Amino acid sequence: MTWPEGDMPVLTISPHTVSAERRPVPPEAPGEVLVEVAYLGICGTDVELLHDRSYYIEQGLSSYPVVFGHEWTGIVRAVAPGVRSVVPGDAVVGQTLVTCGACGPCQSGFRSACLAHQEVGLLGRQGAAARYISMPATAVTTLPEGASLRDAVLVEPAVTAMNALVTTGVRFDDRVAVVGTGTLGLLAVAMARTITRHVDVVGSSETGLELALSLGAERALHLDEAADDAYTVVIEASGKPASVAALGRMLRPGGRAALIGVVNQEVPGFLPSLLTMKGLSVHGIFHGLDHYGATAEMITAPGFPAGLLIDRVLPWSEAAEAFRLLAGRELERPKILLDLSTMR
Ligand SMILES: [Zn+2]
Ligand SMILES: [Zn+2]
Repeated sequence: MTWPEGDMPVLTISPHTVSAERRPVPPEAPGEVLVEVAYLGICGTDVELLHDRSYYIEQGLSSYPVVFGHEWTGIVRAVAPGVRSVVPGDAVVGQTLVTCGACGPCQSGFRSACLAHQEVGLLGRQGAAARYISMPATAVTTLPEGASLRDAVLVEPAVTAMNALVTTGVRFDDRVAVVGTGTLGLLAVAMARTITRHVDVVGSSETGLELALSLGAERALHLDEAADDAYTVVIEASGKPASVAALGRMLRPGGRAALIGVVNQEVPGFLPSLLTMKGLSVHGIFHGLDHYGATAEMITAPGFPAGLLIDRVLPWSEAAEAFRLLAGRELERPKILLDLSTMR
């Protein structure tokens, strides 16, 4: 199929405003593929853009109006000459970080720290709130056959949880505690449950704990109820200092911990001697760029409770309402999606 030309509808964010506009279809470029977007997830980073509290704007990395959107799925409609990894008709999920492949971190296998990276919908690249998005062929992941394009929007946020599971090496006989019931914590509960029956959720939000139980958590606990030496793996997704301080006592000797939550402050009560005496491993988890394929398999497998993580799907014309619901914390489940299939 030839690369479409002309213009297309997009959604843009300016301070406190979401607007529908028309923009040129991105032109064909070497190594790129043109994807027609099907579903788009909205996340806190997008809400910060809308509320004029975005790091990307403050640092001068992006400017309004922004064609936002970095959690999305779609169908490949055209590929540049020489692209063979995907073909028109393939269903794909897009990666947020687009890396250069040439800098030191890229060459040494830590692409997430690429010195010349772009971020879809945030830094140097158009987002997916559009009929079409052009992506490097290397930055899209083909979905398993028959996968739900709707459910697969969860893959982008879930790659971080997958990185935590892979890095800590969760096995069938592990006893896992997931601390935190935000989007990442809930994803981590549902994902860890596909590997081991023994997943407890630890948190403070009663609705979050309830939701985690419905996703398969064995027990829901407050932090002070989590027993000493009870877990072989702790996944910290709350971002709270008290949760980090509790890792050492919650883990059994030889236990492993993954820090997904970003705790940008000192941690009172953290006893490093517990790491030494109990032989614990603590891993910092930044994104999960190398885990899109595995995450797509897990999230779209029959039986994965993706539907319990998606609050609702609104038509693209109700984007402003979707932002209002998300920002106002009026959702019972963490994710709200826009259906872009009628955006023509
Ligand atoms: Zn996001
Ligand atoms: Zn690089």
